[in-house]
Amino acid sequence: MSKPIIKVNNLHKKYGDFTAVKGLSFEVLEGEIFGLLGPNGAGKSTTLEIIETLREKTSGEIWVGGFDLDKEPNEIKKIIGVQLQTSGYYPGLNLTELLELFAGLYNRSIDPLALLDTVNLRDKARSKFKELSGGQKQRFSIATTLINEPRIIFLDEPTTGLDPQARRNLWDLIRQIRDKGTTVIITTHYMDEAEILCDRVAIVDKGHIIALNSPDKLIDELVASGFEKPKEVKKANLEDVFIQLTGHALREGA
Ligand code: ADP
Ligand code: MG
Repeated sequence: MSKPIIKVNNLHKKYGDFTAVKGLSFEVLEGEIFGLLGPNGAGKSTTLEIIETLREKTSGEIWVGGFDLDKEPNEIKKIIGVQLQTSGYYPGLNLTELLELFAGLYNRSIDPLALLDTVNLRDKARSKFKELSGGQKQRFSIATTLINEPRIIFLDEPTTGLDPQARRNLWDLIRQIRDKGTTVIITTHYMDEAEILCDRVAIVDKGHIIALNSPDKLIDELVASGFEKPKEVKKANLEDVFIQLTGHALREGA
């Protein structure tokens, strides 16, 4: 059994008199892909940003890698990888230069080409961020989370707006990162994605966790409660048709 690498206990967040997060408690285990699922406005990004030390909480306790967020936020910053705002991607710089710039901010020396290899972007080393496809932009953004060789990375809706091929490609990348031992926390509102990708998920609604388990166990529980699909499920869906017809290969334009 893996041990917890993140512990969140009774987290609350108020924005003025609106309470966005209402007593969340959960643990993320070392080496897993943990999904925070929920509709827009559920409080997913707020929760992530608080754990990332980027946003103040109202109350509750958080430990990341054994460090208490209230006492040692700088120790936490050293072991986590966060997707940087794309506004920090200076338009005049190419991908190599951007990675070198960010590495400088972390006080790290890196091999930009090796890092670009990890996300399959070596051939774009001299390209500007704005010249990338949607999937390539997300892969680059994930590369920026890996600069400081973090123990945990945080991905907030990394696949939103991507086509099915790019989405699958990103799932592979996220699995590779997990398989190398990095813990991944991801938010998504695509349930198919969470079912395939996440080891465990917490379903968040209106600031509360309403379920937490592996996708498999959550589905088994629902079935055990007597739930049945209204009609017989086909052995494939329209996305399977689409992928079968158009292939798995990435479509990233010229
Ligand atoms: P999610 O990521 O699940 O879509 P968020 O954490 O972004 O949800 O937002 C949760 C709730 O908090 C939403 O109702 C949102 O409008 C509100 N909210 C988020 N950020 C702010 C803010 N800076 N000021 C006021 N309300 C906010
Ligand atoms: Mg969000």
